[in-house]
Amino acid sequence: MPMPQMIDYKIVKIEKDGLNVKRFHLESVNGTAISFKPGQFVNLYIKTPPEEALLFRQFSIASAPSNRILEFCIKILPDGKFTSKLDKMNIGDLLGVIGPFGHFNYDGNNGSVFIAGGTGIAPMMSMLRYIKENKITGDFTIFYTNKKEDMILYYDELKEFQNSGIKIVFTLTQENPESWKGETGRINNEMMERHVQIAEKKSWYCCGPLEFVKIIKEFALGKGVEPAKIKIEGWG
Ligand SMILES: Cc1cc2nc3c(=O)[nH]c(=O)nc-3n(C[C@H](O)[C@H](O)[C@H](O)COP(=O)(O)OP(=O)(O)OC[C@H]3O[C@@H](n4cnc5c(N)ncnc54)[C@H](O)[C@@H]3O)c2cc1C
Repeated sequence: MPMPQMIDYKIVKIEKDGLNVKRFHLESVNGTAISFKPGQFVNLYIKTPPEEALLFRQFSIASAPSNRILEFCIKILPDGKFTSKLDKMNIGDLLGVIGPFGHFNYDGNNGSVFIAGGTGIAPMMSMLRYIKENKITGDFTIFYTNKKEDMILYYDELKEFQNSGIKIVFTLTQENPESWKGETGRINNEMMERHVQIAEKKSWYCCGPLEFVKIIKEFALGKGVEPAKIKIEGWG
């Protein structure tokens, strides 16, 4: 398949989320937008100054495909080559976009389990926004793990998904605030057993650090889920 062309996008909005994450909203400069499936990623290129023309990294799209503005949810690493530069960019600055890529996308099953850690929520947001927009009803459960409550990304929007019949299980691994009503500790087999019924009929989506996605995959396989129904995206 030919490599998709690079399209210029400009930053139209930047929001802070969690402790060290920024949400970048990008709009195509000439109106040609990429078309993608919920869950896919693109290569983002920092184009200025010219000598850095080839500096790029992969990022999952967090917006729904119907939205002409692309949204990304990016953890800023002070010593990260790409993200430290991105951190200094402002509204109006240009980024190159090549894509979409990847097979980590929603398969239309209305019984699905989404499991994410930290910025791993980005591709899930695209899928969940798609599900909500298209009024797809069914049995959806999201497990979302973070170290501390103030690190939870898209907190308000995720809580609102509960009003659309989507079950959200938040878990914190490094604190247990007095008012906390969610789970504590890492997502493990016992936690998944408690919250997911008829696991084998569901599609499973997991995004986060490599070690984490491995554990979830093993659990789903152990439950008799067909390998084709287990989609994983690991980074970090
Ligand atoms: C499919 C896919 C989707 C992704 N989606 C997202 C997303 O939605 N959001 C997101 O935040 N990230 C996402 N990522 C990760 C992203 O592509 C980058 O890897 C990440 O942003 C770090 O890039 P960087 O250039 O800032 O850091 P890098 O410079 O690549 O460094 C990464 C880490 O390695 C360390 N490091 C660098 N050099 C060395 C060295 N020589 N020795 C030891 N350690 C070193 C740095 O300290 C840093 O912690 C995705 C990755 C993939 C593969």
